[in-house]
Amino acid sequence: MSDVVDRFVRYCAVASQSNPLTSDRVPSTDCQFAMAQMLADDLRELGALDVRLDQHAYVTAHWPASEGCENLPTLGFCCHIDTAWQSWGDPVHPQIRRYEGGRLVIGTGRDGREVWVSPETNPQLGHMVGWDLVTSDGTSLLGGDDKAGVAMCLALLSRLKDDPTLPHPRLAFAFVPDEEIGHGAALLDLEEFGAAWGYTIDGGPLGEFCYETFNAAEALVRAHGLSVHTGTAKGVMINASEAIMRFHQLLPASERPEYTEGYEGFYFLERMEGSCEEALADYIIRDHDQAKVEARKQLMRAAANLVNQQYGSEVLTIEIRDQYHNLADVVALPENAHLIDNARKAFAAIGQEMAYVPMRGGTDGSQLSFRGFPCANLSACYYNAHGVREFVPIPELEAMVDMLVRLVALYAVPQDAGCAPCSDRGE
Ligand SMILES: [Zn+2]
Repeated sequence: MSDVVDRFVRYCAVASQSNPLTSDRVPSTDCQFAMAQMLADDLRELGALDVRLDQHAYVTAHWPASEGCENLPTLGFCCHIDTAWQSWGDPVHPQIRRYEGGRLVIGTGRDGREVWVSPETNPQLGHMVGWDLVTSDGTSLLGGDDKAGVAMCLALLSRLKDDPTLPHPRLAFAFVPDEEIGHGAALLDLEEFGAAWGYTIDGGPLGEFCYETFNAAEALVRAHGLSVHTGTAKGVMINASEAIMRFHQLLPASERPEYTEGYEGFYFLERMEGSCEEALADYIIRDHDQAKVEARKQLMRAAANLVNQQYGSEVLTIEIRDQYHNLADVVALPENAHLIDNARKAFAAIGQEMAYVPMRGGTDGSQLSFRGFPCANLSACYYNAHGVREFVPIPELEAMVDMLVRLVALYAVPQDAGCAPCSDRGE
């Protein structure tokens, strides 16, 4: 087994789900410490510098520059150590299976039903015949999201250790908890991390590259009703739940997650609850274009006003707040465009064309980039994330380690500020 596969399987077997219900503390679950501790030990064993595991289960480390590259800016990498909470995630029993074509049975799920993948559900399997895949045993997710990214980073260090002639600047690594519940690496000390720029490794199939994410806001709509006996309600009662439903009817029905894709944004009614006296609805607004997010905010405010006018009083109140912004606003700036160009060159060096994918969500990078660490997102090579059908193809895992070796070498020279951003972007 290659180094990266050996590490990957070992990390997957450590259950480390985060939990949105305990998101008031970081990490949200104690099990993430087990993963953090294993990583800190592995980093020390490899000889990484400044290895630190803090009380929030953040693991950070540095790797010294190769000879002659000491004065270049530090290149950073960031991955998350938690796994998704939406599926079974403890215990995890990783397996390696040869894909022979057709349907691959992963195992039996906790409901007693067969868990499988096939080219009908994953057309990419078409070119994976004869490949070894890492899967779970069907009773849990695998956790390739994002343990594959973590394993790639450690395998990169192992390669740099074994071959001191490989050129690279000083490297910084951050392994952070609670990404799956939107914590966004908020407690990462960027000064101590010390990276000028870099990458998160938390994406899908080999070659996928993302520097565009949604802009995100959330809107909390509250309705304040007036409850009276239904027998004497005429002309008096104000039903808060009805007010919320009137409001919802005024939002464009076609702009919901279940009807949108690509660059189309949406309103999502995430939660609602209510009685006659009081009701509330939680929405999230998403769009790659901030101007469209602003237009949606305006439309929501106008809808609330209209409902209030109909009632003749301020039945609805609405609070809107921004959550994160599109990475592209930072990464596509001329001074950061090398993040895109170098990724493309490193993929090309391993014979892989890079595919630009606008992410319909955010990454840890969506916050980090605006806090002063511009970072784009690289493939972690996981498929069917957040569920029991998750798998990671070993040839892709190994190819990404080669890609990272090429990528750090591209940062072993000063970066040209102002190179044309993705001038040959294929669209
Ligand atoms: Zn992830």
